[in-house]
Amino acid sequence: MQHKLWINGSWTDPEDGSLMTVSDPTSGVELAQVVNAGAKDVDRAVQAAKTAFEDGRWSKKPPRDRSYALWKLADLIEQHAERLAKTESENTGKPYSFVSLGADLPFAIDNLRFFAAAARDVHGSHAGEFTDGFTSMFRREPVGVVAQIAPWNYPLMMAIWKLGPALAAGCTTILKPAPGTPLSTLLLAELIAEAGIPEGVVNIITGGNEAGQVLVEHPDVRMVSLTGSTGTGKKVMKTAADTLKRVHLELGGKAPLLVFDDADVEAFAGKATIGATFNTGQDCTAATRIYVAEDRMKDVQEAVVEAMRGVVIGMPFDDDTQMGPLISSVQRERVQGFVERAKAAGAKVLTGGSAPKALADGFFFEPTVIVQADQKSEIIQSEVFGPVLTINTFKNEEEAVRLANDVNFGLAASVFTKDVARAMRVVRDLEYGTVWVNDHIPLTSETPHGGFKQSGFGKDLSAEAVSDYQVTKHVMIANT
Ligand code: NAD
Repeated sequence: MQHKLWINGSWTDPEDGSLMTVSDPTSGVELAQVVNAGAKDVDRAVQAAKTAFEDGRWSKKPPRDRSYALWKLADLIEQHAERLAKTESENTGKPYSFVSLGADLPFAIDNLRFFAAAARDVHGSHAGEFTDGFTSMFRREPVGVVAQIAPWNYPLMMAIWKLGPALAAGCTTILKPAPGTPLSTLLLAELIAEAGIPEGVVNIITGGNEAGQVLVEHPDVRMVSLTGSTGTGKKVMKTAADTLKRVHLELGGKAPLLVFDDADVEAFAGKATIGATFNTGQDCTAATRIYVAEDRMKDVQEAVVEAMRGVVIGMPFDDDTQMGPLISSVQRERVQGFVERAKAAGAKVLTGGSAPKALADGFFFEPTVIVQADQKSEIIQSEVFGPVLTINTFKNEEEAVRLANDVNFGLAASVFTKDVARAMRVVRDLEYGTVWVNDHIPLTSETPHGGFKQSGFGKDLSAEAVSDYQVTKHVMIANT
């Protein structure tokens, strides 16, 4: 199968792009060929989005009409859920049951419906007389042409997280999925047209990092929304500075889990294991660092090792599978490298630490638990993006918070305790965009998702995301 680019509402041959291969992570076998867009291809997509924005075919529609189209797109995705889920599982190796019934598709559909509703509430906030002789009005307007650049870990869900708020606000977009996982996003193209979203409003460009770079450089793009690694976020922000674009960055994470002496250890171990192995640990909010009160270390260690050993690793279309492969051989080598360097630095692997022998063909990796890692070591400080948990201890509440905050990231954290007052103190002091109490990982369409520190800024999900795609215009009317 060979795909084209989706520009101005139709499938378009590349002008200066080449072809690249998309593979199945359970076998490495080729699934499809897609375009690696060149600079001219990117420019055509930007021009289509610019024309569509400027003539108001979307931005000047009544909010109700935008809302209905987004609602229809959600319905169409629901009707085509099986095909979308199958493609997503084939392209990423995610368990099919998780994609179709668990997180990805139901969440994406709900998300679009949330933004369909939010599209009807995009007006300005004030009208008033703030000085003699004038009436002021604050209009909320769409930013304009937006470049939306997605990662490979939740390709379909990330595409929807990006499109929903941008379209609700009235922007037009060029969406670029990650190079290895574009297939479900390409399936969205025709559904977008069928939903009545006018041509040129959503353009889908496949390509590598260079295509992303060209998009960010493009002078007609007003805003870049990136979900990706912190390193890419820094590059994008530097590039965007040349044309002073707005940047919206959803970047990496290194989530700590603080377990106090009164926590329910069995319940904790189950939740930490889901948090660490969901999507094979390739999740920006994944559970990565457990810090436990000293006198509960032994209990927590035993319970977590047992729970991690119980995770069923397997092929995406087997009903029992709880965890599929990592996305690529490169990613598996990367995860293995982190584990090897942690061992060399003195840490101890309690379980896992390598590829399972029974699944030799794909890029599988065992759920892994590491202890005795130094707080300043790489395995504690860097994002591994695999099913790897470290466990360390703390002496008191103050030290727990200090260790949790002692990384450059600030996306998500969790606290496990029955003491409400303690939970509230710790929640206040954690420098993280999301903090769970007695759980780790759930999100909903209403809840803002985004980072502190080097995890980025701007929010996905929630009404805040729509605001991120708007600018305020002050209108001052002389009334004398
Ligand atoms: P990545 O940074 O390698 O790539 C993300 C996207 O950016 C891809 O589409 C890529 O082609 C593009 N890109 C790369 N270099 C670019 C450049 N110079 N200019 C413009 N575009 C460029 O990330 P990844 O490996 O695909 O995804 C994993 C990362 O994403 C992890 O760090 C993870 O934590 C993060 N992530 C964050 C969130 C969040 O909400 N904060 C959600 C999911 C994933």
